Amino acid sequence: MSFTSIINDIAKYLKRMIFVNMFFFSLVIPIVLLSLGVETSSVAIITALGGMLLCGANFYFINGYFVRKTESSLTMSYASIQNDYLYDDLTKVYNRRAGLVRLNEEFARAKRSGSKLSIAMVDADHFKNINDTYGHLVGDKVLTHIASTIKTGLRECDIVVRFGGEEFLVLLPDTQGNHASLPLDRLRERLSENKFRHNEVDIPTSVSIGIATVSSLDGDPMDTIDRADNALYLAKRSGRNKVVYDHNRRHLTPVLSHA
Ligand code: GH3
Ligand code: MG
Ligand code: MG
Repeated sequence: MSFTSIINDIAKYLKRMIFVNMFFFSLVIPIVLLSLGVETSSVAIITALGGMLLCGANFYFINGYFVRKTESSLTMSYASIQNDYLYDDLTKVYNRRAGLVRLNEEFARAKRSGSKLSIAMVDADHFKNINDTYGHLVGDKVLTHIASTIKTGLRECDIVVRFGGEEFLVLLPDTQGNHASLPLDRLRERLSENKFRHNEVDIPTSVSIGIATVSSLDGDPMDTIDRADNALYLAKRSGRNKVVYDHNRRHLTPVLSHA
């Protein structure tokens, strides 16, 4: 139930309550009691007490029923706003805006504590071909499949973000070197081996991945992203379906290459 309809319900209920109170306790009940020969002072006491009791009952009803309903509706609206604000509609991983907030937080934490944060750029290979061959809607399903495979294939603490169209950013806190590249290479392997099945057709999917670890020279998360992006570019250039780890050297070399 929407918040507005609850407010409308309360307004209607209050109007009805005021009318019933006025009509019965100021008019009907006094007239009936007086016509039955009840003393005026008793009529006044009875109507006053009745009115008070009815107000009390209404108060408990409004408090208990409408307030609880409003609370639950507000909680639901908040959850849905928060959901829209944080997550990508299609893939259900963090959207770019929320992902960049997490990136800044994790970057600052890594800088402060000296812990290692690795950042991976994951890009679907030849995704345009998938759209062109099977249609955009199937392309959407493949993207969702890629996102959920990334999400389920990593640790709970790793943060998956839809960075752009068919590009994902993965933040791996307290991780560097092989501890970053090996799990992502397993992910790459899983995606290329388990083809996405749609209408009895196996759709080949693969991703290329570039990884960089925050270094003392990075003044800004974008410096690390730039290096991850360069590593991704190298993975693409060297044949796709590959993971390249940036060792923060002048020349990048693929540490893992899979034909
Ligand atoms: P590469 O291996 O070099 O990355 O090739 P690519 O085809 O994946 O890259 P390119 O940048 O040429 O094309 C990306 C495609 O991804 C084009 C765009 O229509 C598609 N895409 C982006 N976002 C979505 C989406 O939300 N749904 C679908 N179905 N397609 C999308
Ligand atoms: Mg691509
Ligand atoms: Mg791309």
